[in-house]
Amino acid sequence: MLLEMKGIAVNYGKINAIRDISIQVPEGKIVTIIGGNGAGKTTTLRAMSGMVPITKGEITFEGKRIDGLPASKVVAHGIAHVPEGRRIFPQMTVEENLRTGAFLRRDKDAVENDLEDVFKRFERLRERRTQRAQTMSGGEQQMLAIGRALMSAPRLLLMDEPSMGLAPVIVEEIAVIVEEINAQGLSVVLVEQNAELALELADYAYVLETGNCAMEGPAHELHDNETVRAAYLGI
Ligand code: ATP
Repeated sequence: MLLEMKGIAVNYGKINAIRDISIQVPEGKIVTIIGGNGAGKTTTLRAMSGMVPITKGEITFEGKRIDGLPASKVVAHGIAHVPEGRRIFPQMTVEENLRTGAFLRRDKDAVENDLEDVFKRFERLRERRTQRAQTMSGGEQQMLAIGRALMSAPRLLLMDEPSMGLAPVIVEEIAVIVEEINAQGLSVVLVEQNAELALELADYAYVLETGNCAMEGPAHELHDNETVRAAYLGI
């Protein structure tokens, strides 16, 4: 198992954001986490990347404990987080934003190669490399956020609502990118409000409800499950 999360709880003050979450991410797969507003999806991702402390349970990545490590150390282990709302640096150029993703790396030649790979994947980022990030469209900013995460040379990519606020045609583009990145061997954890999209892309899915896992299974099975369809697919 690439990443394993066992019995995780996270509190924000007195609020139990997640209570008892266990998630497994096999090497090379796309795992999705779906659920309604406030179910704990974002918090689960933030726990994986060390952005919030856990109060219970353990997290291992490639067999090593990573819970308790600061986010910067978790990145160095090979986990990159594409946050909700992209969080790009608006005043910085496209290229500067991308380079922040490689901030901790010492392998300078490999960084240049990876930058070229990102520009190959996202030609629009290459065209706009000297442009300030704030002047880009929502879809371009999402691509920039993904590119920046790839610049840390991750083995696991955590994506929080990549489709949020984007037009359907751009959402489709992002979906293709996620599939391509995964086909090249990168494992993905995808948090999505758009359950239809998520269940089509993923191999395996977890459904969260009020901080607990209500259901899990192969994504195609949950996609066809009556309860899931009624609650999350609006059918
Ligand atoms: P959404 O899809 O609406 O983003 P989510 O499933 O990602 O929801 P979380 O954002 O993880 O859910 O939130 C889980 C719970 O924790 C919610 O009750 C939320 O109000 C609470 N919460 C999240 N962030 C904080 C915070 N910084 N301080 C206090 N409570 C928080």
